Amino acid sequence: TSTPTEHPTVHDEASAALLQRARAVTPGGVNSPVRAFRAVGGTPRFIASAKGPWLTDVDGNRYVDLICSWGPMILGHAHPDVLAAVQQAATQGFSFGTPSENEVALAEEIVSRVAPLEQVRLVNSGTEATMSALRLARGATGRSTVVKFAGCYHGHVDPLLAAAGSGVATFALPDSAGVPASAAHETIVLPYNDVAAVEAAFAEHGDEIACVITEASPGNMGVVPPAPGFTSALRRITKEHGALLISDEVMTGFRCSAAGWYGLEGEPEGGAPDLFTFGKVMGGGFPAAAFGGRADLLANLAPDGPVYQAGTLSGNPVATAAGLATLRGCTAEVYDRIGVVAHAIADGASAALTAHGVPHTVQWAGSMFSVFFREGAVRNYEDAKAQDTAAFGRFFHSMLDQGVHLPPSSYEAWFVSASHDDAAVEHVLAALPAAAAAAAG
Ligand code: PLP
Repeated sequence: TSTPTEHPTVHDEASAALLQRARAVTPGGVNSPVRAFRAVGGTPRFIASAKGPWLTDVDGNRYVDLICSWGPMILGHAHPDVLAAVQQAATQGFSFGTPSENEVALAEEIVSRVAPLEQVRLVNSGTEATMSALRLARGATGRSTVVKFAGCYHGHVDPLLAAAGSGVATFALPDSAGVPASAAHETIVLPYNDVAAVEAAFAEHGDEIACVITEASPGNMGVVPPAPGFTSALRRITKEHGALLISDEVMTGFRCSAAGWYGLEGEPEGGAPDLFTFGKVMGGGFPAAAFGGRADLLANLAPDGPVYQAGTLSGNPVATAAGLATLRGCTAEVYDRIGVVAHAIADGASAALTAHGVPHTVQWAGSMFSVFFREGAVRNYEDAKAQDTAAFGRFFHSMLDQGVHLPPSSYEAWFVSASHDDAAVEHVLAALPAAAAAAAG
């Protein structure tokens, strides 16, 4: 049967039955590991439908959604304009395998928002975007070593799944079985927000390093914004050594602002990153992602250049329609509303946790935030790991039982949408005191 649950107050029989069926035919019963609830225990909820800020599961429970598909649903679920665009696109065919106008329009929309972008290539997932950006950086520089930061997630790309090696410029061990040591050996993992570590790695390996890839403002160890000057230091050091800087905006892109984290932090001293990657919001809930940068760099890609990259479904007409409608719907009012909602929920959570004596810290990247179940500023992955994950698990399940679906891990941002109206926010706020009491134990 399902994972034994200590939280039987809400009916979850239909979800449990589906999980059992799923486990027979799918590893762990899920198609992306975090969905299995392993960090928090209990039965993951199988969702039957979603509208605006609300999820409805197969048992008929309703939840205010604070996952928002891990970022894409910035306008809320089944937004009427996006739905209409998808329906319209679908009536005209699902996939052509030849160029179509929507691809051009989506690329234009993205390029018009992020000033340093001249060209983008569309792909199907954030993973593909970072994988392809990496290949392009290696192809353009003729070097193979990649620098990434511990706690930054860039999708399940072999050389980027190498994570925390200890110390400065440690060649990492693979973080996953199946990643060859050779792939990990070409990755240097450094502590985030540590300029000296970057300097040291470049001093030793500078002429082998193709690129530094960083989350524009990390959200995958919880929200850990770059310290002032950190992005500029990356720009300076990479330039000095002829390496490229890749800013991964898969999570922050078109969420932190209309121009993503770049739009919020502004151009680093010394110039813009060479390459950007995007996903999530730009697909509006469908598989669409992109990588891009200066035209001279992108000219290295096939068919113009020697770096191969392709995709049967890349630029899919239905996905691009959803992405376009979503980006066009991301007005100033949308960003304002997201900010209001995020602050109301974060303030409420912090007040409730404080009232119950639960150590915590809220960190922000624009209106993107997460709650760390520990005290004090979190500057890197080591800090982020020092959390009371058991307290988070109790908090999570109390919220779930009260109809609020948080990300099932304390290392994740809490995502809100512009469709989170006052009723949805009130519902979250009303649940927080009991959840904080549960966290206190
Ligand atoms: N890069 C970042 C910053 C991400 O947050 C993610 C996914 O969470 C990815 C890349 C990978 O994207 P995808 O899950 O679409 O492959």
